[in-house]
Amino acid sequence: PELFLPERINSKGFDLKHQPTLDTIENARAPFATHKWEVGPVLAGEAKPEKPVRVENPADPADTPGMVANASKADVETALSKAEKWEAPYQERAEVLGKIADLYEENFGEIFAILHREAGKSQPDAVAELREAVDFLRYYGANAPQGEAVGTFTCISPWNFPLAIFTGQIAAALAAGNAVLSKPAEQTPIIAHLAVSLMHKAGVPNTVLQLLPGGGEVGAALTSNSRVDGVAFTGSTATAMKIRSAMAKNLAPGAPLIAETGGMNCMIVDSTALPEQAVAAIVESAFQSAGQRCSALRCLYVQEDIVEDFSRMLIGAMEALNIGMPWDLSTDCGPVIDETARAGISEHIQQARAEGRLIHELKTPNSGTYIAPTLIKVRSVGDLEREIFGPVLHMATFGATEIDTVIDEINSTGYGLTFGLMTRIDDRVQYVTERVQAGNIYVNRNQIGAIVGSQPFGGEGLSGTGPKAGGPHYLARFTAHPAPKAGD
Ligand code: GLU
Repeated sequence: PELFLPERINSKGFDLKHQPTLDTIENARAPFATHKWEVGPVLAGEAKPEKPVRVENPADPADTPGMVANASKADVETALSKAEKWEAPYQERAEVLGKIADLYEENFGEIFAILHREAGKSQPDAVAELREAVDFLRYYGANAPQGEAVGTFTCISPWNFPLAIFTGQIAAALAAGNAVLSKPAEQTPIIAHLAVSLMHKAGVPNTVLQLLPGGGEVGAALTSNSRVDGVAFTGSTATAMKIRSAMAKNLAPGAPLIAETGGMNCMIVDSTALPEQAVAAIVESAFQSAGQRCSALRCLYVQEDIVEDFSRMLIGAMEALNIGMPWDLSTDCGPVIDETARAGISEHIQQARAEGRLIHELKTPNSGTYIAPTLIKVRSVGDLEREIFGPVLHMATFGATEIDTVIDEINSTGYGLTFGLMTRIDDRVQYVTERVQAGNIYVNRNQIGAIVGSQPFGGEGLSGTGPKAGGPHYLARFTAHPAPKAGD
């Protein structure tokens, strides 16, 4: 069927090089700089949540962004019994999604304050995240004519894009008219709560969209109940597999799982690459957002002929990075999300140190859950036992005749999310990109920051089910029937 995608432009965001814009952001954020939010389940019936627990600020242990009361078993039951599909015609659904986008843009001060304090986001990351959330709303709104509801969707989203991915999953499910039970990541319930309140304000009925904050137990309850008709999940590959088996046991056989999971993302730099360009792209891909993107570069392959000079340049660029408070514009690398994350990454670094494979490491601040950008030597990406979700880059080398071996090593991980190639040989671009199995391939640029509508994002193999988020086919999995033709 023909896809219906009316004209739409991406959100323009904020120009962080323009002082009056920076002042506007600060003035809007100021009222929320010390505010303490109190959030909990948002149900179409009465909530009986658990005792409130503290939400943490990863950069500043002394700050308490707020308290969250997680959903109880009774709350899950209430949400399931109240859930109703969105019967409004698609024009109305699209219009409401557009209104939500407008409300997001109007409430940027509160949104930025929460992203900063609850998720440790830097200013550029917070701006990019708001833009992406707005883009998802308008893009899936424009896709709404394809939609015919499946029923009730559970949407489980991660803390690394606590607004953008949270919003993207819900916007797609709503565009198709589904009822949504949404469970945000345990670490980031406040931004989810604000997002849901803006969605309701814009006109999404409270039976259509309900919020159930909590951890793995709430997630398990929402993915193993026969009244759920489909699941959208972004997070680890291991959790996606648990969800798939819970769904297989309890949901209808055809119930869709739309999962976007981890990656073992590699980049190849050959001897013809422009070193300055490659180094800049590597630093962004590996260390921006403290490496907490599933698209982030984890393993770099540098051709051995240039590795000596190239490593020196890369280490020099790492030395120039500022590790500091996330909101400070001079900061390049902020904290990782929490102590559990910090401890796990730190253990990986310790092991590399013990084995004499630590090439370079920067210093961390004294408080907050920081990991400083680190470079570790490996023989191949196959040496990585798990996805290290932080600012840790691994580096391997290859010989001039070993490109096929490298491609095999990359494909053998079984993951296939992003891949980067730095070369000035045109034939090589074609050769390598035809063979590497990855959802998003980037040539002579960084490998993070896919843009809704122009760079649909998603992987294959262990990296996810597809369809790609922010692309024309995403909504199809949230719909029950083949899309009607435009104008039908
Ligand atoms: N879409 C994001 C990017 O391209 C990554 C999403 C994720 O980390 O889950 O950087």
